[in-house]
Amino acid sequence: MKVCSKIEEIKDVRAELGNKDLALVPTMGALHEGHLSLVRKAKSICENVCVSIFVNPTQFGEGEDYSSYPRTLDQDLKLLESEGVSLVFTPTPQIMYLNHQTYIQNPDLSSILCGLSRPTHFTGVLTVVAKLFNITQATHAVFGEKDYQQLKIIEKMVTDLNMPVKIIPSPIIREPSGLAKSSRNSYLTDKEKEEASYIYKSLLLLQDKIKEGIVGVKDLFLIFQNEILKHPLMQLDYLSILDKDLGEISEVKPDCRALTAVKVGKTRLIDNIKLC
Ligand code: AMP
Repeated sequence: MKVCSKIEEIKDVRAELGNKDLALVPTMGALHEGHLSLVRKAKSICENVCVSIFVNPTQFGEGEDYSSYPRTLDQDLKLLESEGVSLVFTPTPQIMYLNHQTYIQNPDLSSILCGLSRPTHFTGVLTVVAKLFNITQATHAVFGEKDYQQLKIIEKMVTDLNMPVKIIPSPIIREPSGLAKSSRNSYLTDKEKEEASYIYKSLLLLQDKIKEGIVGVKDLFLIFQNEILKHPLMQLDYLSILDKDLGEISEVKPDCRALTAVKVGKTRLIDNIKLC
């Protein structure tokens, strides 16, 4: 496994691959089974897989957890080695953003859901992902449905800017309790972790209610809000029910999604499910 931190280094390794396909899995490290499922999907598509590990400063807002975000590089590299990954890119912020001035924006998809409380987040995400695509010349890139808004905004960037990379979505990996795996789960106390499992349980409840005939988005919102209110450690940031492309709907329809962000103690967690 080759580990490169410099852009020129990784470009050289990529050049040696010539016209061969390369699947990129962008991450911020602190790897868990969710990330590894993406790596396995990438490996099932391309012989050559590159995982990037970069805690991207431009996608963190002021007062967010950039400096405290878990960094476990040695352990991450061991995990990737055992997955048979051929290439890992571990740049520093200095390397990625030396004299940087240019940013990619999608004002529409950035202004809903997580964008409401994190107004600069998706500009940072789009910019770093575009840079990673250009640096690695990836032909494929795998993104988790865990960050569904991120997946959709990246798909839109690739379409709008005619980027020659195929975006591959990958399903959410959960703890046995139902809690979606996340690097930020390490911030949670045991009690908070237990409470946080009710985020997914409350999303599943919406599926049951739809089967019972409740199809209005407003009614489903109130049901979810009530469930979260039952748990004093949790505070609802948002719950939105949208079509699969994040368009507004008033009643559920095939492939629509419930997307939520909930604060559990001081930790903000996101989750989503396909409702029907
Ligand atoms: P992150 O390191 O949090 O930026 O995530 C890197 C990639 O892993 C993103 O495409 C995420 O959507 C994906 N990911 C994170 N957690 C999970 C999970 N529990 N299941 C599936 N994919 C995930």
